[in-house]
Amino acid sequence: MTVLVFLDPGSEHGRIADATRPQLMATDLGATRGDGIFESLLVIHGTPRKLQAHLDRLDVSARAMHLDIPDQHAWRRAITTALTEFAATEQADAPEVVLKLITTRGAEGAAAPTSWVSAFLPPATSQAQRETGIAVLLLDRGYDSTIAERAPWLLQGAKTLSYAVNMAAIRYAKDQGADDVIFTSSDGKVLEGPTSTVLIARQREGVKELLTPRRDSGILPGTTQGALFSAAEEAGWKLGYGPLEPDDLKTADAVWLISSIRLLAPVNSIDGNPISTSPALTFELTTLLENIV
Ligand code: PLP
Repeated sequence: MTVLVFLDPGSEHGRIADATRPQLMATDLGATRGDGIFESLLVIHGTPRKLQAHLDRLDVSARAMHLDIPDQHAWRRAITTALTEFAATEQADAPEVVLKLITTRGAEGAAAPTSWVSAFLPPATSQAQRETGIAVLLLDRGYDSTIAERAPWLLQGAKTLSYAVNMAAIRYAKDQGADDVIFTSSDGKVLEGPTSTVLIARQREGVKELLTPRRDSGILPGTTQGALFSAAEEAGWKLGYGPLEPDDLKTADAVWLISSIRLLAPVNSIDGNPISTSPALTFELTTLLENIV
């Protein structure tokens, strides 16, 4: 069951629509060109997590795309409508709900973008991968790590709807018997997952260090990584921002893919070779994440 709320100028709190019926024009540029932006966030027991960070990143993506999107108050009102509607469904007791915020450039020839919020249950794999961990493949993304600055039209730091390549990478990994992917740059740096940020932990002489790839290396700045880093710093962790290379993954005490819906997924192996894992560190960081609102 999916709840759908469109942000229309005429309806202050959003217009509820039937997700089982067609709702988009076939000429919508989001559908025909992937020309749009989105955010996915987790709602736990009715409270959206890191909502401000997601709304801020949606604004950053909109600016990169020259898209004129509804203001943050309008998104918040539509989210409230969607969650109220979801609470009236037979799935109201679900502890976790996914919210998607989407804006497309609109139907061809239309003056305004199309914006909507949807609310639905997370995929079962999300919970399973938190618990059992994942096997990943390192795959070359084909760009070097300075691409974002040199080629802003590639929209590397924006969360656009053009995820066909990311989904193809995951399919490729699954065909090879793995679960997910870590992209590397053509100059040998670790980048990100197709839908996640890379995180590694190192422990040396009682000092715990949490590292992630450089944020300016052509990756999407993760809201989960950002929030976890703040919480971990307060809890006494040392932080580091790359650059990271594949050897850093293989020699780390633990590696995770981290994102809003799946949260922390421990990496068990890379290219078929087992790596070090740490259930204790996974537990510690998951507890920190659970307390972030
Ligand atoms: N990198 C990419 C390419 C993503 O698609 C995502 C999330 O979907 C992330 C990183 C993680 O971002 P967040 O933690 O904000 O969900």
